[in-house]
Amino acid sequence: MDQIIIENLQVYAHHGVYQEENEKGQNFYINAIMETDTRNAGTLDELDLSTNYGEVCTFLNNYITGHIYKLIETVAEKTAEAVLLRFPLVRRITLEVRKPEAPIILPFESVSVKITRGWHRVYLSCGSNMGEKKAYLNGAVQALRADTKCRVLRVSDWIVTKPYGGVEQDDFLNGAIALETLYTPEMLLEKLHEIEYSHGRERKVHWGPRTLDLDILLYENCVMCTDDLTIPHVDMHNRRFVLEPLAQIAPYERHPLIGQTVVQMYEAIACKDIKSRSEEKRSVPKIYAKKVSLETAHEIYKTYMKTDFPPEEIKPFAVIEKMWKQDSYYVYAFYEDKAEDLDERADDSQDVLCAYAFLLADNKKRTLLLDYFAVCEDRRGEGYGSRALLLLREACADWNALLVEVENDELPDIEEETRHIRRRRIAFYTEAGCRMTDVRSLLWDVNYRIMVMPLMDEHAEECIVEKLCALYGGMYNKRELQKHFAILSE
Ligand code: ADP
Ligand code: MG
Repeated sequence: MDQIIIENLQVYAHHGVYQEENEKGQNFYINAIMETDTRNAGTLDELDLSTNYGEVCTFLNNYITGHIYKLIETVAEKTAEAVLLRFPLVRRITLEVRKPEAPIILPFESVSVKITRGWHRVYLSCGSNMGEKKAYLNGAVQALRADTKCRVLRVSDWIVTKPYGGVEQDDFLNGAIALETLYTPEMLLEKLHEIEYSHGRERKVHWGPRTLDLDILLYENCVMCTDDLTIPHVDMHNRRFVLEPLAQIAPYERHPLIGQTVVQMYEAIACKDIKSRSEEKRSVPKIYAKKVSLETAHEIYKTYMKTDFPPEEIKPFAVIEKMWKQDSYYVYAFYEDKAEDLDERADDSQDVLCAYAFLLADNKKRTLLLDYFAVCEDRRGEGYGSRALLLLREACADWNALLVEVENDELPDIEEETRHIRRRRIAFYTEAGCRMTDVRSLLWDVNYRIMVMPLMDEHAEECIVEKLCALYGGMYNKRELQKHFAILSE
């Protein structure tokens, strides 16, 4: 970088450890090398584009005579900082404070302290996942702007991201900030902690919820690791929520250890994400759907239903059989698909049942009701349910709609645990493509909300009550219906 050099500026000042020095004063000589880009000023011959060395000399003189310090180290430190704050084009200054009349009893020529100070380019990440997230992040930027030792250069968009590190919590709002600072890394960390605390941050759970988290990602090309501080940030290259906003404001900044640019690191993890997502897909349980015979349905009923449903929910098989004979009841079974090709599937004596669905149809054969749906006990929590529903959806693709009764999660007097389980079930059906309607029904004292999976009919959410009545009408007689079935709201 270009330099503007001032040599041996003579300043009469009163710094010193001894009282006599403070009272009488002595000559100090200042050498300053200021690093700054002089090309524009030089090309256009324009003083406004450069730093006026005359002004710097006056400033140095005023500053050094205007204060009294014991040590020339302090004179150098304070003066260098003052120059950097006062002359914005100066990026770095090497300042030497010489004291040839220092009180030393031996013969000597001169004694001096020489330091180099400057603005450092830093990238921060910021995140919040509690309360007014946007306000916290904006607050952090404001606090940095208000600090004279920081100059905020760029701020990324705030992006919404999923939490990291396995603690269950709200979504995050994340961003990145580019700034220049006079602080050392340690001082900057202290400053960031101050800002975090003034925005309500408490450190309770590592990776847990926080109003504001400010981390140092890069500090120039600095590489350091102490008990309190690791730079570059130890995990930045693995975090999408760090790299995505950082790529907006510093795409070609390089990680000093890994050697890759921000964009390269971001693309690497984006690729990894896609790969792991497709691996996840590969591990989706392999099952196939089959519409079974009445005998098989009876087998499933006898073997599985008793353990999968509470006894009061299980209707006598005779009722199912009666509707089966009227062609308004079907059972789909989902079996483990071991066969590599379809021919091997011919013999289904070895089929292993994974899930089953009992379906009731209305007499117009347009709407289905999911009467019973269960995943076998040893297969739960591994994605079999979602896969089975997807296959069921394919198998029933030429129907208008499939209705699902889910136990009401909004009742005021249920336990939180129960509410949670019901909500999870609703979320499961929602993910499978079902939509919640505002119809509630009361059937044999059980309070249900009705969901619908639209199939052929795009307007499947309409006339739910009629559809429901048509379905129950086929299953129960009038007297039973009057006594045990009611629509609660629409
Ligand atoms: P995290 O940021 O990992 O979610 P915290 O904000 O609670 O967790 O930080 C824990 C500690 O990490 C801080 O107190 C700080 O001393 C340390 N730390 C180490 N390196 C850095 C860095 N580059 N930026 C910010 N904090 C860091
Ligand atoms: Mg942190």
